[in-house]
Amino acid sequence: MTPDKPVVLLVEDEAAQREVLAYNLEADGFQVVRAENGEEALLCVAEADPDVILLDWMLPNVSGIEVCRRIKSRSETRNVPVIMISARSEEVDRVRGLETGADDYVVKPYSVVELMARVRAQLRRSRPTTVGERLEYQDIVLDSETHRVSRSGNGIKLGPTEFRLLSTFMEKPGRVWSREQLLDRVWGRDIYVDTRTVDVHIGRLRKALCSNGGDDPLRTVRGAGYSLG
Ligand code: CA
Repeated sequence: MTPDKPVVLLVEDEAAQREVLAYNLEADGFQVVRAENGEEALLCVAEADPDVILLDWMLPNVSGIEVCRRIKSRSETRNVPVIMISARSEEVDRVRGLETGADDYVVKPYSVVELMARVRAQLRRSRPTTVGERLEYQDIVLDSETHRVSRSGNGIKLGPTEFRLLSTFMEKPGRVWSREQLLDRVWGRDIYVDTRTVDVHIGRLRKALCSNGGDDPLRTVRGAGYSLG
């Protein structure tokens, strides 16, 4: 996994359609995790921690609706936005009626441009820093476009790693991140970094955030990891 790149889980059993979509998503700066069926999709949700899921309705064995229902019924995956893709508008009506919890619906044949816009709209919610949003948590403000951070109006200087750590925390205040999850998100999965390195950078981030006074906003959760607030 490359850090910072938003991850899209693409669930589509037809290879040609899957590859066209994957090509467009990758060209748009997304990291794409592919799944060919429902079972694979459910495994990938836990494994890849995607930021958005594109889910085809018509899948062999476990249908897209069932996959969506299971994703939305688990507390760990409930907040991952799901865009359902279906062949006919009547199906979309049925999906709505079934209350699967999907966040958006797209009908085939879709325009790729429109689909990309919808993916980005969902990202604004799940990974706001990847679309240049400004985040606020209490007196801390993080501008992901200018890479500036301030607390109570005072500018705070952060190294690139501390900035990515803070972005990750501020996107999901209250969420407890394990050291391994922070490594995947901030350093990338392919790089070998000792989990103690995370502690070192958390220490630096804490120091920087409290440099002008104020309470430590980061919480150490024993045996679990770290969270903001
Ligand atoms: Ca299909």
